[in-house]
Amino acid sequence: MFIGHWAPALVASAHPKAPKLWVLFVGAQLVDFAFFAFVLLGVEHMRIVPGITKMVPFDLYHMPWTHSLLGTIGWAAILAALVWLALKNRIAALLAAGVVVSHWLLDLLVHRPDLTLVGTPPKLGLGLWDHPWIAMPLELGIILAALVYYQRRAKGKMLPLIVLSVVLLVLQLVNWFGEQASEMSAQVPITGLVAFTVAVLLAWWLGTRRAISPSQG
Ligand SMILES: [Zn+2]
Repeated sequence: MFIGHWAPALVASAHPKAPKLWVLFVGAQLVDFAFFAFVLLGVEHMRIVPGITKMVPFDLYHMPWTHSLLGTIGWAAILAALVWLALKNRIAALLAAGVVVSHWLLDLLVHRPDLTLVGTPPKLGLGLWDHPWIAMPLELGIILAALVYYQRRAKGKMLPLIVLSVVLLVLQLVNWFGEQASEMSAQVPITGLVAFTVAVLLAWWLGTRRAISPSQG
């Protein structure tokens, strides 16, 4: 799961009390931001094993701090606390936390068994990355539905929404059909971090150009 992770962020942002869209975009990928940073720092680990799943060649064999359910809840609590400090609004904090936790649940659908509950086995993952004809329409379907939902509730300029939609689609297509890394290097996590940052910046732009109409919240 890649751009599909931003579907819950778009849906949550349509709530009148929601934090800014870019904050929810960070939240949706918070544990992947942390994972790639931890890979660069040597705290968590992955390797490239071509063919390990049909779609993604990553053997994500050590990510107890970011991709255990417990770890994810911890990251959710951190973001919720920051949102609470900034906005002093309980609903905003809960929405942010929910978006962070949604990442683990969506990963559970697509990952091979490499997720955990508390950082130790059993390892969990329903493995849709081995079933592209389910995983691809699923991912495109949920992000498209979320973009339409957001478009209907957040009134304003069309251009930033179109740009964000197109860029997300391009990132996803490159992710699926572009050349895949054949061996592990710092380029793998750095590419991920750059892609996430581009999406967050576009979400910031979009958030400044559209506003939720309270009557439809
Ligand atoms: Zn993840």
